[in-house]
Amino acid sequence: MTLAGKTALVTGSTSGIGLGIAQVLARAGANILLNGFGDPQPALDAIRGHGVKVGHHAADLADVAQIEALFAFAEHEFGGVDILVNNAGIQHVAPVEAFPVQRWDQIIALNLSAVFHGIRLALPGMRARGWGRIINIASVHGLVGSTGKSAYVAAKHGVVGLTKVVALETATTSITCNALCPGFVLTPLVQQQIDARAGDGDPQQAEHELLAEKQPSLAFVTPQQLGELALFLCSEAGSQVRGAAWNVDGGWLAQ
Ligand code: NAD
Repeated sequence: MTLAGKTALVTGSTSGIGLGIAQVLARAGANILLNGFGDPQPALDAIRGHGVKVGHHAADLADVAQIEALFAFAEHEFGGVDILVNNAGIQHVAPVEAFPVQRWDQIIALNLSAVFHGIRLALPGMRARGWGRIINIASVHGLVGSTGKSAYVAAKHGVVGLTKVVALETATTSITCNALCPGFVLTPLVQQQIDARAGDGDPQQAEHELLAEKQPSLAFVTPQQLGELALFLCSEAGSQVRGAAWNVDGGWLAQ
């Protein structure tokens, strides 16, 4: 299967899951527009190794004007976005009554509203070209709750709902919209939670306890595995998967 000639915009792809997905799509021939904070050079080099066109735009997706600038850049530099992977996301853990209001607003803006803005800006071009794939990286927390994660769980449930509506509104077209719902993946986002849990104690013990609480496989999901599933959703075989919230979670939701 080849994605040659297609362009994938993967938000939040300077590290973690986004970078893993971008690498698999690049391996299949897609041109890649990266987004995210920090030094983009290692990610750019990793993608360039696949011989595809690659670029980076550092838009802060909590800011609507910057999202619009990102899509204008995609149009100008790549001729539009055929595959949109809404991946950028942040986490904050605190009980709801102590949840910092500013962190709530940031999480809703990035983890939910940016997904809406990305979709509304990508869809007209996908409709005009007659093909598109929208893949929203939600979470098992789009389907169940956990203590301390009110903003994250609310945003991710919102993403799963938004995914269903967009899938229905595009149901008769060659554009599909789905959500992936990962369990724990060992990225900087989860490493912060392990470090907070370990405190001065043993990080490996903290890692084991984190998995043992939720993820029966006791193994992390990998960015590569999520990339392969995203690639399947881009294939002809995946073209009637619409509005799914596909959990990849080591058994988390089977309990
Ligand atoms: P990560 O921290 O490794 O990567 C997040 C990416 O988003 C980075 O590239 C970062 O620069 C970027 N980013 C952060 N704030 C941004 C902003 N305002 N604008 C633009 N980019 C921004 O995290 P990750 O674990 O790879 O998470 C990626 C996605 O996967 C998130 O939506 C997260 O909720 C989801 N997810 C993660 C896990 C997990 O266990 N790691 C599980 C389920 C879902």
